[in-house]
Amino acid sequence: MHSYDRLLTDNKTWASEKVAQDPDYFKRLSHLQKPEFLWIGCSDSRVPANEITNTQPGEIFVHRNVANLVINTDVNLLAVLDYAVTHLKVKHVIVCGHYGCGGIKAAMTKTDFKPVLNMWLRNIKDVIRHHRDELMAIPDEDQRADRLVELNVREQVYNLAKTTIIQRCWEKEQRPHLHGWVYGLKDGLIKPVFEMPVGTHIDDLYKYEL
Ligand SMILES: [Zn+2]
Repeated sequence: MHSYDRLLTDNKTWASEKVAQDPDYFKRLSHLQKPEFLWIGCSDSRVPANEITNTQPGEIFVHRNVANLVINTDVNLLAVLDYAVTHLKVKHVIVCGHYGCGGIKAAMTKTDFKPVLNMWLRNIKDVIRHHRDELMAIPDEDQRADRLVELNVREQVYNLAKTTIIQRCWEKEQRPHLHGWVYGLKDGLIKPVFEMPVGTHIDDLYKYEL
């Protein structure tokens, strides 16, 4: 038996348990998706959005990438954002980082991770540059990395507010509320670190006439 066979057999067990508890479970879910939340999280296998928020399939629309980045040329993320905000009409967009993030730690080193990863992690190096004084004042390396996790989440929430997708929806429909959260691998708890309610002031440079 291969390791992946377990995923398939466990899937069968899970599906039959769900139907045993609630015969209409899949019938209901297959008809409608109306999530209230878009989750932009890290790909790290220890931070599954539904499990740590105790939510069910259908409740959270999810996008994950290394270190939960919101990059304005990332067509994948922008398509997810546009679909969730404009079509699914989510009320909240949550960027959720996590302490002990490998992507964040990697960006703090001088290691050459070769072209593609270097390119991705460069975005985090830019966050370090913006907050260099605050970060360099923290002597402990792990604490500095944890603070960078929080600052990175804040920057990514700002990046959301810089998109016309969010600005247009704020103006026309007074949603969504943007949240920056950090999950603790050691205690399983989520800490809200930053938020931008509808209409929060943003630098004029990034504002569009819509
Ligand atoms: Zn991570």
